[in-house]
Amino acid sequence: MHLEGSIRPAVASALAGRWSVALSEAEVHQRYAYQNFSEFIEAFKWVTSYLRAPADYATVAGDLAEQLLQQNVVYAEITLSVGVMILRKQDPRANFEAMVGATEPYEKRGLRLNWIFDAVRQFGPENALEVVEAARRCGSQRIVAFGIGGDELSVPTADFRAVYEKAASYGLRRLMHAGEIGGPEKIREAVELLGVERIGHGIAAIHDPELMDLLAAQRIVLEICPGSNLRTGALAKQLGNPQATVREHPLPKLLRHGIPVVLSTDDPAMFHTTLDEEYENAAKMGLTEQERKQLVTNSFQFAFHLPLSGSTCT
Ligand SMILES: [Zn+2]
Repeated sequence: MHLEGSIRPAVASALAGRWSVALSEAEVHQRYAYQNFSEFIEAFKWVTSYLRAPADYATVAGDLAEQLLQQNVVYAEITLSVGVMILRKQDPRANFEAMVGATEPYEKRGLRLNWIFDAVRQFGPENALEVVEAARRCGSQRIVAFGIGGDELSVPTADFRAVYEKAASYGLRRLMHAGEIGGPEKIREAVELLGVERIGHGIAAIHDPELMDLLAAQRIVLEICPGSNLRTGALAKQLGNPQATVREHPLPKLLRHGIPVVLSTDDPAMFHTTLDEEYENAAKMGLTEQERKQLVTNSFQFAFHLPLSGSTCT
């Protein structure tokens, strides 16, 4: 899940106030409604425009930790849009250290967080390389992976080859958003050209049975976020059905094919969802209790780092 997608309307309103911008919660609610994927990307950009100082990041991270604890989450990997920080000429390290300071106290309450430094695809390879270098400079074991999100139809996958090689050389695990609104070839490219071991969304895999075999055989994880797919129109697009509901989501098909699937919220505040609701969505798709337990188990099994102590999956 993304830090920037967890900013609740009340928090967005408070952040804007810090920068002398009058923004009501109702206005934020209005912004958090989309007809399609590009409108969602616009809203994401808009809300992050109020993250201007390390203290803003600390506020948002602390609020996210509260939200996660309320849902009995014991471990989460938080995707951080460092590409946006670099674009805005911020210091990623100062932002990151403020967030760690704000969230560390939650460890005593049973919540462990690790971080994924994320580049924005449409900002191009140079910006992405700076994200990788920022991860190295932070020198924190809590930064476990490098990823790329954003508009997968923008820059070609192969252009990021050197970036991912550099990330791997720094010991970062690799992932990428692919096959969300793009075709299955975006997923295959990410695996074959960049060596990623996890795919954000990847629902387009249903269009390519051989790719599904490959994902299952190589244990490539798909991070599936049904509420997000519904709200961005990605599900409708992949199914070729504007009326598609969560019941028709391909998650069961992917899971039953033997692909390691994990369940998440993506941008919970922006998609009006919680992890609990996503498990309810999984039930609506017809997943048995055993299959829903499998989703939980997968989240631990395929975590980039397991919690150090205090929590086990039963
Ligand atoms: Zn995402």
